[in-house]
Amino acid sequence: MSETRDTVILGSGCAGLTAAIYTARAGLNPLVIEGHEPGGQLSITTLVENFPGWPEGIQGPELIENMKKQAERFGASYQLAHLHTVDLNVHPFRLHTSAGEIHTRTLIIASGASARWLGLPSEQALIGHGVSSCATCDGFFFRGKPIAVVGGGDSAMEEALFLTRFATKVTLLHRREAFRASKIMLERAIAHPNIELRTNTVVDEVLGVDEKEVKGLRLRDVTNGTTSTLEIDGLFLGIGHEPNAKMFKGQIDLDEDGYIRTRDNVLTTHRGEVVAGVYACGDVQDRRYRQAITAAGTGCMAALEAEKYLEEHGR
Ligand code: NAP
Repeated sequence: MSETRDTVILGSGCAGLTAAIYTARAGLNPLVIEGHEPGGQLSITTLVENFPGWPEGIQGPELIENMKKQAERFGASYQLAHLHTVDLNVHPFRLHTSAGEIHTRTLIIASGASARWLGLPSEQALIGHGVSSCATCDGFFFRGKPIAVVGGGDSAMEEALFLTRFATKVTLLHRREAFRASKIMLERAIAHPNIELRTNTVVDEVLGVDEKEVKGLRLRDVTNGTTSTLEIDGLFLGIGHEPNAKMFKGQIDLDEDGYIRTRDNVLTTHRGEVVAGVYACGDVQDRRYRQAITAAGTGCMAALEAEKYLEEHGR
């Protein structure tokens, strides 16, 4: 691909697709690189109850599909590809992707954040064999079986509640006494008869590596060091996400956890100086709010900045 685009958007979650709607309506014919998790986190969630305009809520995948069609109607196009490397020292910028080299005058980074894992060898060995980070994707496979969820935030509560549709029992394991989850989500989990919450508990090992399927967990109580075994068939991680920004290291500023640092919401910087034409939006730059609506908001801002840049610097 040798032509030069006006706008390339990296990521097809809520932020990227909002940027696509705005830049497409502005006539910039954006190219959306869909990445390794097309649709982003909304596409693997269930009911979204807090996106304005949907009084009864809307399913995450449906919301994403609507946004995609909306952008497409105004001329956005989509490419399933992975970004390998990027060169922001030349203009137009160069993106080396699995679908070839792409040149673009403006770049909107909306690459989001990916699920975090515990990092235990036994957990890694059993991913796809009973260990999962996506309840909506894999919950169905655990119908009539006991499972465990790790985490103390809203994601863990949401996963645990969702998994009660299938599992006989959900044991929610959290490493501390206090929860990070919002009060309403925590109360729902506590009130559910099929969810048991265990605090101050960590997973030391996922059992079943030899059998190639999860058989249980070896747990440790962090207050007294006591270990125990929990028999379960599935383990779901709900312990947060890592920003997908490693490929920009050295070319734009990242914070200590790898999130893209932004100025005035969406402007990127390199050694503190604004990188003209490169904008970041959504979860890849937001460690504080991380909501669909805030991602959409910054996606809109990034699109307006890209439009302004092209007006000032020519297309
Ligand atoms: P989060 O709020 O960062 O919570 C992550 C949880 O995982 C924390 O309780 C943390 O424990 C635990 N954790 C992290 N690393 C761990 C490890 N290695 N071992 C064991 N436990 C570990 O992440 P999140 O729940 O994904 O939520 C992210 C944002 O999305 C939040 O703003 C949340 O409100 C929002 N969200 C909202 C909804 C909703 O409203 N429906 C649903 C999902 C997410 P510590 O507490 O000890 O750090």
